[in-house]
Amino acid sequence: MRANDPNLKRIDPPTLKWHEKLYVLPIVQGLGVTARHIAGVVFDGKIAGFDLGSKAITMQYPEEQHVPSPNYRGVHRLNKDEQGRVKCVACMLCATACPAHCIDIVGTTAPAEWPDREKYPASFVIDELRCIYCGMCEEACPVEAIELTGLYDLTGLSREEMIFDKTKLLSVFDATRDTEPMKYTRPPVESAGQTRILPSLES
Ligand code: SF4
Ligand code: SF4
Repeated sequence: MRANDPNLKRIDPPTLKWHEKLYVLPIVQGLGVTARHIAGVVFDGKIAGFDLGSKAITMQYPEEQHVPSPNYRGVHRLNKDEQGRVKCVACMLCATACPAHCIDIVGTTAPAEWPDREKYPASFVIDELRCIYCGMCEEACPVEAIELTGLYDLTGLSREEMIFDKTKLLSVFDATRDTEPMKYTRPPVESAGQTRILPSLES
């Protein structure tokens, strides 16, 4: 937009009176908000039945573990099928959809004893530090092979440690399969009076 664009609206700053320039009232108002929050934390949100509008939400992590919401998007996993094979068919849709370009897949011809697919990933790498956890890869996958889990506390001491290869992504599946069933096997999601059936491999 140019400086002389006719659509530009110019707003002149208001002229303050002498008492407004002292900023006494805003300071008192700000201190009032701070005092209300402190009282909310000390008295757990209420004084004599009066709701203070805030209370302590600090958790004693790691003694207390945060439980993320079911749709939280954390570390990825590569799902396995009933036979323990990687479900991915190396179609590259997730890598194409990824806005951060952090998925690198090398597909290869599937073994003859895998008649249900033409390809599988010889290599599957996700740079977890470049990822913006948007979930587009999960949305794009036609066979529910890649999912974002509720894991939020995975750390590494180097960049290399946060570049997850196929083995590591499959191990995340092993670590989370019991606590987070694959989404296509989860029960229908009820929301706002509507039922959304999650996609099924059988359909
Ligand atoms: S969550 Fe988004 S940024 Fe991360 S790998 Fe998937 S598509 Fe890429
Ligand atoms: S994870 Fe899914 S979208 Fe990505 S290459 Fe494998 S099958 Fe295709």
